[in-house]
Amino acid sequence: MKKIPYAKQTISQDDIDAVTSVLKADFLTQGPVVPEFEQRVASYANAVHAVAVNSATSALHIACLALGVGPGDQVWTSAITFVASANCALYCGATVDFVDIDPKTYNVSVEHLTEKLAIATKTGKLPKIVIVVHFAGQPCDLEGIHSLSKKYGFKIIEDASHALGARYKGLPIGDCRYSDVTVFSFHPVKIITTAEGGMALTNNPNTARRMQLLRSHGITALQTEMSVRPPNEIWNYQQIELGFNYRMTDLHAALGLSQLQRVDEFVEKRRQLAERYDQVFTKHPLITPWQHPDSYSAFHLYVLCMGSNYLTRSRAAIFKYLHDREIYVNLHYIPVYLQPFYQSLGFLAGHCPEAEAYFARAITLPLYPNLSDVEQERVIETICEAIET
Ligand SMILES: *Cc1c(COP(=O)(O)O)cnc(C)c1O
Repeated sequence: MKKIPYAKQTISQDDIDAVTSVLKADFLTQGPVVPEFEQRVASYANAVHAVAVNSATSALHIACLALGVGPGDQVWTSAITFVASANCALYCGATVDFVDIDPKTYNVSVEHLTEKLAIATKTGKLPKIVIVVHFAGQPCDLEGIHSLSKKYGFKIIEDASHALGARYKGLPIGDCRYSDVTVFSFHPVKIITTAEGGMALTNNPNTARRMQLLRSHGITALQTEMSVRPPNEIWNYQQIELGFNYRMTDLHAALGLSQLQRVDEFVEKRRQLAERYDQVFTKHPLITPWQHPDSYSAFHLYVLCMGSNYLTRSRAAIFKYLHDREIYVNLHYIPVYLQPFYQSLGFLAGHCPEAEAYFARAITLPLYPNLSDVEQERVIETICEAIET
């Protein structure tokens, strides 16, 4: 029987042709395709600046640095996210903490954030940055979080790794209307892919420039940025701070540029498949992904939760039943602070009760544009068998 993964890229002949044409051109890296891809993503998401990098993890790192995160600072993120949303703060020497989730959207809970901020005001541990995650592709309550940022003086990074093509109140995720920086991932499981790749968007020219410098060793070729005038025309660049080599290549950008043309099609297909899952599973004691009326989700993930009459053991049994039949359901995510590394930093179980309750019940079902109707029916039938046996 054919294996059904939880996620998979969709590669067309046009994508292949776009990549091979770069192989035949003059530049494999630092050519014309990366800036073109940046401009196209920025205009798609309605942001002013875009900085392409080799992963969303790198984008999160340079976004934190560009916003001034350093030792002694606090960075908060959602308890239910990929580890990279938290690791980026540690790379900068900052301290990380986790905000509990909303039990309906699985996004950061504005209520918990409000409570945590009130406590932090008293202890003097207010965050410098809050990294919100548009979990599964569904936008967070950006207005609510933005108004808290005004009150408590923190900056906002949107980890939109799941949410290219999503909209909040009708406007595209990535426009940075409510945030300082928005980050996209182009890993193969995400909405569009460049193999490895990511991008940081911002409307602030200084933040954009800092991120460009950090992406490329902290090197500038602009005379106006040089601390000393170059003594001659041969010495035409200077390193003015400590940066990294986080650049995207033209090969990767060509794939992304080609994929971007189909982003709305991909999201539409994901949403149709999600709707089919909804139709079936709402008839069972299962919790389908609740959608906030303000949000148009990109449906990076379809997460089904077991009703309260199921135990964790049953969830594990369902996993096994499906894996045995080559349907590779997944789990997104174990609360980050329960990872052994974060446990070693001193985080205790019980830190975010809603996140832990979610974690005990969630299953990510296969969802990707090329999942055929026949395959989806096989997934549905097998899940129905699994929960009835
Ligand atoms: C995938 C993902 C990342 C990291 O993306 P990479 O491009 O693989 O570095 C970060 N945050 C979230 C929420 C993700 O899903």
